[in-house]
Amino acid sequence: MQDYENCTLCPRNCAVNRLQGKKGFCGETAELRIASIEAHFGEEPPISGTHGSGTVFFSGCAMRCVFCQNYQISCFHVGKPFTSSRAAEKLQQLHAAQGIHNVNFVTPDHFLPHTIEIVTLLRQKQVTIPILYNTSGYMKVEAVRRLQEYADIYMPDYKYADAELAEALSRCRDYPAVALSAIGEMVRQKGFLDSVAGRREIAQRGVLVRHLVLPGQEQNSMDALSILYGEFGPQLPISLMSQYRPLRMVKLAEMNRPLRSEEFYRVYEHALALGFRNLFVQHMTADHDDGDDFIPDFKRERPFKGNVRKR
Ligand code: SF4
Repeated sequence: MQDYENCTLCPRNCAVNRLQGKKGFCGETAELRIASIEAHFGEEPPISGTHGSGTVFFSGCAMRCVFCQNYQISCFHVGKPFTSSRAAEKLQQLHAAQGIHNVNFVTPDHFLPHTIEIVTLLRQKQVTIPILYNTSGYMKVEAVRRLQEYADIYMPDYKYADAELAEALSRCRDYPAVALSAIGEMVRQKGFLDSVAGRREIAQRGVLVRHLVLPGQEQNSMDALSILYGEFGPQLPISLMSQYRPLRMVKLAEMNRPLRSEEFYRVYEHALALGFRNLFVQHMTADHDDGDDFIPDFKRERPFKGNVRKR
């Protein structure tokens, strides 16, 4: 936990003493705080499977994107104090009761030392399901290196190719290069998600990169895909997401409306034209227009409305 003393866990490098209750950009002290631990059925099929993915949603965030779909926890810090052992117990219970396929740490970058402790406790309890780091991509390479022995699957975002957009929406102009280096280290460690090679139905290991298409930002999306293709080639598994909803007023006017179908499909066509072979696509449907299933309310006992077990 000494990492929290002069915290430089993420590229923000705040250098505050979180052990003494100080807060940096992520807005969290060294006290572990968690908003939700539950079996989640809305991830990509090889991640959620039929029994769900054991998601752990942490309070606070080192990205704090202005459009965050989980803003209640990332910006308003909804959540409760937890200990690592209580989190591990809850995950162990979920595994025993529901057979979750993996443990899924969602945007855990600012609590990495706690995640390592939770994984260690789970292993002591003989819970050996894959450990998944579901991250913003905005990570230091050395942080990813430290996770080598604790992670099995990485599911990073690659949000921005456009440094100005990264600055405007997430205050991190250096995101495109920083995230690309972090993803490079993830791929070096684990390779591509093993399920896409047809070896398994439920993923056990590897990297899947996610990209959320934003309204009015097709060029950013297409450039992000081109960069990923140039760096990792056609076999890199990509998940193209369309679930954006305007939840809070944003200075960039186009972001205050839902994503249009034609925008999403132009980006999808670009991915196909590049030649990506392992695409997960969150198609836009009529149901999608409600959007409620995708927008969590972390003040509820069960934050995700449409979160039901698939049969
Ligand atoms: S984890 Fe939080 S306090 Fe530490 S460097 Fe990142 S934003 Fe700053």
